[in-house]
Amino acid sequence: MARAIAANKFKKSKLNQRGFYSSLVNYYLLKKLSFTYPAKLRFNCNRCGLCCGDTKEKTRHILLLEEEAQTIAAKTALSKQDFSLEISDKHPYCFEMKKTSEGKCIFLKDNHCTIYSLRPLICRFYPFELKFDPDQEQHAFSFTLECPAMLRGEILGKNFFLRLFGLAKDRLKC
Ligand code: SF4
Repeated sequence: MARAIAANKFKKSKLNQRGFYSSLVNYYLLKKLSFTYPAKLRFNCNRCGLCCGDTKEKTRHILLLEEEAQTIAAKTALSKQDFSLEISDKHPYCFEMKKTSEGKCIFLKDNHCTIYSLRPLICRFYPFELKFDPDQEQHAFSFTLECPAMLRGEILGKNFFLRLFGLAKDRLKC
């Protein structure tokens, strides 16, 4: 009887230990999956097209993931070489979108994106950026004031950033 009680106690303590470690792992996983975002930030894209090409101040690099380039090629019946250049120094991105002689994305026509539903992650993210902060052990959203629609329009709530975060996780498989 005493032996059975001792065995039970041992089993329970093992289970508790396992529970403790798994919640510790969950805690760190959750931290890695959590993020901070700018509070009460206003933004409403007005489709001005500034982020679709170079400006006087900035040369734009529209980077593509392998999967994105493949999807665009399949849906437009173009080859990847028709609209992009292969790159090897910007992992996980494998291609860079070609630009017109005016420095605009090759798919921008009359200031409209002609592959809007297929646009790459980088276009969907602008004017935001997401980086992992090792000190805080979580991701952090930041933004650029280059975009003229920044600080205008409706206040962005957590759902807006959640959507972007989910998209990044999904496309970057992280
Ligand atoms: S620069 Fe800003 S407002 Fe203009 S198209 Fe890009 S995201 Fe929209």
